Amino acid sequence: MVTPEGVRDAVVAVADGRIASVSAPEEAPRGRAHLDLGSLALLPGIVDTHVHVNEPGRTEWEGFATATAAAAAGGVTMLVDMPLNSIPATVDRAALEAKVAAAGRAARVDVAFWGGVIPGNAGALAGLAEGGVRGFKCFLAPSGVDEFPHVGERDLREAMPVIATLGLPLLATAEEQAIAMLLRLATETGCRLHIVHLAAASALPMLREARARGLAVTVETCPHYLTFAAEEIPDGATPFKCAPPIRDRETRERLWEALRAGEIDLVASDHSPCPPSAKALESGDFFTAWGGIASLELSLAAVWTGARVRGFGLEDLALWMCARPAALARLGGRKGAIAAGLRPTRGAD
Ligand SMILES: [Zn+2]
Repeated sequence: MVTPEGVRDAVVAVADGRIASVSAPEEAPRGRAHLDLGSLALLPGIVDTHVHVNEPGRTEWEGFATATAAAAAGGVTMLVDMPLNSIPATVDRAALEAKVAAAGRAARVDVAFWGGVIPGNAGALAGLAEGGVRGFKCFLAPSGVDEFPHVGERDLREAMPVIATLGLPLLATAEEQAIAMLLRLATETGCRLHIVHLAAASALPMLREARARGLAVTVETCPHYLTFAAEEIPDGATPFKCAPPIRDRETRERLWEALRAGEIDLVASDHSPCPPSAKALESGDFFTAWGGIASLELSLAAVWTGARVRGFGLEDLALWMCARPAALARLGGRKGAIAAGLRPTRGAD
């Protein structure tokens, strides 16, 4: 069993949908119905904090029924949905309610939501927080969809103090120059920052320096940046198109080393599906193909495959894909570890 104290032989007792105890085999409660997993590893459910479910509005791309079925098949017991690619985007309370209703009808695993920061919606952020969003997401470059415009420094100067007051994190799509600006604003406003899907290892020194100064900033990368390398992608292979793009082999290895050094905190899928027709499979045209890789069901297997050959253990996997994502979404007391009091199964608190 992969527990916060390490990998060990153990018995987990579950009662009323919660973990009642985790004990050594000789101290386990007797005479109960039980399941012996033999030599299989028992991990906490994966908490994937970067998932694009496109319902309502683009349900044919991916709705809650299909996304959460893929999640369950891939060991993901909780996903946090991104505020864009659905219509409307989750940028105000009414849009959040539409998302919650759609998920409530169809979800097979637990679902939570990020809200969106776009130009002019600073006044809607408190309402979104009241509705239960775990934090906010913004883009500093075009997002790929018209209904989710990107923000600039002036918009962030309105939004970040509000987000700081709400005590929530701001998740940002950004590389290098944009990260430098965000770090400056985070220092000024006290807003907690999370850099999503880092693909460029060159931004790491700047983040290391910010953390050394005590700034609250965390970093994620994705299974595709840890698995693929630009040199290995055939010409015109548009299924590999994603944003930011997949870099070279050397960068891939630097991302693994950053995980080892604790400079990248967590791995989330950035699951962003679309119909095959949007991938320009026949023309192989990278300029018209949708940028997104669908990996919710495969993240655990892909990351473990790469982790294992580089000498990492299951406890590393549980940190990157369970405990730290749960902490980012402030779900630490409920999800992300096998420990007494936490919820192994679906259900609201
Ligand atoms: Zn994304």
